[in-house]
Amino acid sequence: MILLMDITITWYVFIAILGLLMGSFAGATVWRIRAYQLKEDKKLGEEYDKKEFEQLKKLTKHSVASDRSRCLHCNHVLEWHDLVPLVSWLRTGGKCAYCKKSIGVFEPIIEVAAAVLFVAVYHFSVTMSYPLAVTILLLVISLGMVILFFYDQKWLLLPNSVMWSVIGLSAVWWVWLLMQTNDVGAFIISTVISIATLSGLYLLLWTVSKGMWVGFGDVKLGLALGLLLAADWRLALLTLFLANLIGTIIVLPGLLSKKISRRSQVPFGPLLIAGFYLSFFFGTTVVDWYTRLAGYGF
Ligand SMILES: [Zn+2]
Repeated sequence: MILLMDITITWYVFIAILGLLMGSFAGATVWRIRAYQLKEDKKLGEEYDKKEFEQLKKLTKHSVASDRSRCLHCNHVLEWHDLVPLVSWLRTGGKCAYCKKSIGVFEPIIEVAAAVLFVAVYHFSVTMSYPLAVTILLLVISLGMVILFFYDQKWLLLPNSVMWSVIGLSAVWWVWLLMQTNDVGAFIISTVISIATLSGLYLLLWTVSKGMWVGFGDVKLGLALGLLLAADWRLALLTLFLANLIGTIIVLPGLLSKKISRRSQVPFGPLLIAGFYLSFFFGTTVVDWYTRLAGYGF
C-alpha cells in the first residue's frame, strides 16, 4: 500500500516537472512565434513594432526548432544551466546571468501555469480512468493551450500554426469520444450544439462586426473547444458563461476607475481557455447540481 502510494506521488512529481519543462518550451515558443510574426508583418508591409522587431529578429536566424535561446537584452546564448525552469530564474532573482538585466516574470509564470495545468489534467485523467494515450493527447493539447493563452494575452492574437495543431488534436479527441459513445445520434447533436455555442456565436459576431468585435482566432479556438466538450453541450454553455464572467470581473475595476476605456481591446482567448478548463474539470458536477436545484433535467 505504502509502495503504491509512493508510486502515485512519484508520478505526480514527474508530471509537475514535465509541466515546468514544457512551460519553459512554451515560453520560448511564444517569443519565437512572435519574432516570425513581426518578420512576416514587415515583409507584407503591415504595421509592426520596429523596436520589438530589432530585439526579436535574432530569434529568426534559423528554423523554429534549431534556434538557440538567447537573452533578449544582451543576445548572449543561454546555456542549459540558465534554462532550468523556475530554478534559474529564482537563482538569479529574475535577472539575466550575463548582463544582469531583468528578465521579467513572464517565464516563471508560464512555467508554473503549465506545471499546475499538467498536474490537473493528469489528475483528472486518472479520476476518469482515461487510457495513457488519451492522457498524453490531453497534455499535448494543454501545451498548445498554454502557448495560445499567453500569446493572446500579450499580443491579442491566436497564432495559426498552434491553433491548427490544437484543432487537429481536438478532432482526434472527438473521434475517441465518438468511439466511447453508445448513442451516436445524441453525441452528434451535442457536438453541433457545442460548436455552435463556442464557435458559431463568434463567427456571427465576427461576420456582423466585420472582425471588429472579435478576431477570427476566437472562431477557430471555439471550434477546438467545441470539439473538446462535444460529449456534453451544457459544458460549452458553461464555458461561454464563465469566460464572460471572468472577463467582467477582470475588466470591471479598470472600467470603473477609467483605467480601461470601453474601446480597449480585451483578449478573449485566455478567458475562453480558462472557462474551458474550469468547465472540463468541474463542469459536470456544477451542471448536475444546478439542474437539480432548478428542478429540471436536460
Ligand atoms: Zn542578458
